[in-house]
Amino acid sequence: MSRCSYELRNADDNLIYQCKESTHDKSDLCILHVPLPENDDDYKRINDLKNAEVDAKLKDGDFNFKGAKLANFAPSVSSIDGELFFDDASIERIDLPRVTIKGSVRFRKATIGVLIFSEAMIEGKVDFSKAKIGEAYFNKAIIGGGADFSEAMIEHTIWFFEATIGDAYFNKAIIGGGVDFGLATIKGKVDFSEATIGNADFSKATIEKFADFRLATIDGSVYFSKATIGDAYFSGATIKQFADFKKAMIRDTDFEKAMSEGKVDLSKATIGMLIF
Ligand SMILES: [Zn+2]
Repeated sequence: MSRCSYELRNADDNLIYQCKESTHDKSDLCILHVPLPENDDDYKRINDLKNAEVDAKLKDGDFNFKGAKLANFAPSVSSIDGELFFDDASIERIDLPRVTIKGSVRFRKATIGVLIFSEAMIEGKVDFSKAKIGEAYFNKAIIGGGADFSEAMIEHTIWFFEATIGDAYFNKAIIGGGVDFGLATIKGKVDFSEATIGNADFSKATIEKFADFRLATIDGSVYFSKATIGDAYFSGATIKQFADFKKAMIRDTDFEKAMSEGKVDLSKATIGMLIF
């Protein structure tokens, strides 16, 4: 057996990670890094070996799954005592509802079908920059740090309903469905600058700093009804349907006053219909 050939390079082509595991069978990759086979019998055998390897790593306190190719990541653990790394990984479904993670979670450039972190408690930040995601659930999750989805591609919808998070970065993200931050508390800012999204729902959400949608393209509507926000920037944005600010509170004042104070910047924005 020789060493797995999986390696991860940064944008400057510098080596940032080299797998140290032994190769699996006749492959030049280890069990975590070999692709899942097409053939049904092989698939089950390889998938079982992959799951056993995941369990062994977790038991060892090794949370490095960079580049891992997995069907499912659904370990029966309630707590992960460290940082969880999935950069460049390819995983069909991740099920970690109600988990406690005592560190940050990194999925840079990962490809994930379905991701479930509902009611999770993540003490650090979550980094999904440049990731490709089918759909993701963070409903009622508590994230101590920020959530970074900059330049991510999300095919369907990402849910942060009733979640509590630091900053939320979605700059230049492309989201086919929408984002739902209904009743969420964002302790910092929300950045959707230059993003392309379906709908953005912040109904009854609290955004302590500001919401930045500069140069964003919203194919549907943005909903801030009954939301409490610092400032809102929409200069150069395109909102094809509604911008709904009904009963929104902006800097402890009403929308009309905020407009007169220039706290809501809609300059050069194109909006189907403005409601307030
Ligand atoms: Zn490997």
